[in-house]
Amino acid sequence: MLVERGRAGRGASGRNAGQLVTYFERPLCDLVDAFGFDMATRGQAEVEAAWGLLDEMLASTGAAVPVERLVGAMGMFSLNHLLVHLRNVRIRNQSGLDRETVEISEQASFLGRIPEQFRDLYTIVSQARIRECLEIDTDDYVAVLLNRKGCANSALLCQELLAHMIRHYPDRFVFADQSTAEHIVLGQADARLAVGRHFIAASRVVLCTNGFNHHTIDNQVGGILPQRLESKIHPRIGYMAGFVSSPGAPATATSYINNEEIGGKKPYYYLTRRSYARSGEVVTLTCLGGPEAVVMDTAAYDENADVPREIAQVFDAQVRPLAASSRPAGLDYDYTWHGLMAYTDNKIRLVGFEPRNPVLMYNLGCNGVGFLPSIAGGLRIAKLHSGHTLQPSIFDPS
Ligand SMILES: Cc1cc2nc3c(=O)[nH]c(=O)nc-3n(C[C@H](O)[C@H](O)[C@H](O)COP(=O)(O)OP(=O)(O)OC[C@H]3O[C@@H](n4cnc5c(N)ncnc54)[C@H](O)[C@@H]3O)c2cc1C
Repeated sequence: MLVERGRAGRGASGRNAGQLVTYFERPLCDLVDAFGFDMATRGQAEVEAAWGLLDEMLASTGAAVPVERLVGAMGMFSLNHLLVHLRNVRIRNQSGLDRETVEISEQASFLGRIPEQFRDLYTIVSQARIRECLEIDTDDYVAVLLNRKGCANSALLCQELLAHMIRHYPDRFVFADQSTAEHIVLGQADARLAVGRHFIAASRVVLCTNGFNHHTIDNQVGGILPQRLESKIHPRIGYMAGFVSSPGAPATATSYINNEEIGGKKPYYYLTRRSYARSGEVVTLTCLGGPEAVVMDTAAYDENADVPREIAQVFDAQVRPLAASSRPAGLDYDYTWHGLMAYTDNKIRLVGFEPRNPVLMYNLGCNGVGFLPSIAGGLRIAKLHSGHTLQPSIFDPS
């Protein structure tokens, strides 16, 4: 049974940038330092396997969701960016993960300071090539990381998959929207959920609630949980602005680092351009993103509130000149929106059993990137629920 507080696909799944990407908001080399080579690369491989799962979902359900596939670029400007990503590329090559390419401008001031051990991992290109990859007309960025990306409409995917489930599994699947799970009581081997005037008896509960905290949990075995989970999830509001133009522009998914050193506090900016079907026509939709704000009380967060004026100014004054420089300043956007991005303490999605009571499971905490990771998490949940024993993983709740 899927219980949804609002309408399906109206959370982050309906309010994102539509990029299909598989990176963590934490470098792979950092994950290797924290979890060891095998566990970290296994986690990365699991997320990358979601490309295949997405294809399988589309093929087996016939869901009419266009997926545009491309090589996407990330812009870098400091030696720190390069050293971190060259380490990541080395780890990828050693572990058989998808290959990534690094290109560095011949004009990069730090070219002579890149250690010789990385020489086989990058190529030197013209500054014009860097500009072209990032679609920029300044020389603020001097290197790019190129890798497999895509674009798709995740709200449409939710809608199509839900329709398929309702149609094909009427005896096994129930969907209740406009229904908030307000209180969850966890027992030894089952759970009881209070949803409005109704109660649901379940053998297991999977929280896929992103960073929302509209519910309380009473764990009758193994200790108190709710405070524990809330203190682990740090929600932020991610803001977006989009405009439409004539059809036919190539799809793109690009990001631009803003911090001098990876791991700094400034959010990075990003650009998604994809085809978009609206009222009988297909247009090009260009989405700009990056600005974020901390949210203290997610129960009070209004997903339909207007984008604040100061955030709109950041789009026009900072994101647009970089990621859509041919668009004049001061124009209204066709769409602005925002959604919750839940960050976990370790910036890794939480997927698996609650260690204090396995009746409860989690698949949440996008940490900025959740489209493919949530699908990968879905398979992990299905396997665990079916009784598979899985190797320890970076996603395990602890
Ligand atoms: C601005 C923005 C841009 C993003 N861009 C990208 C991107 O380009 N690429 C990418 O990979 N990821 C991106 N993400 C993240 C991505 O959208 C999500 O991680 C992904 O869609 C998976 O979401 P989810 O299912 O975990 O959560 P959601 O889609 O938020 O779903 C959680 C659902 O739980 C419901 N809910 C919560 N509490 C209760 C309750 N008590 N009872 C019943 N229902 C409840 C909510 O109503 C909601 O519908 C972005 C997110 C934002 C906000």
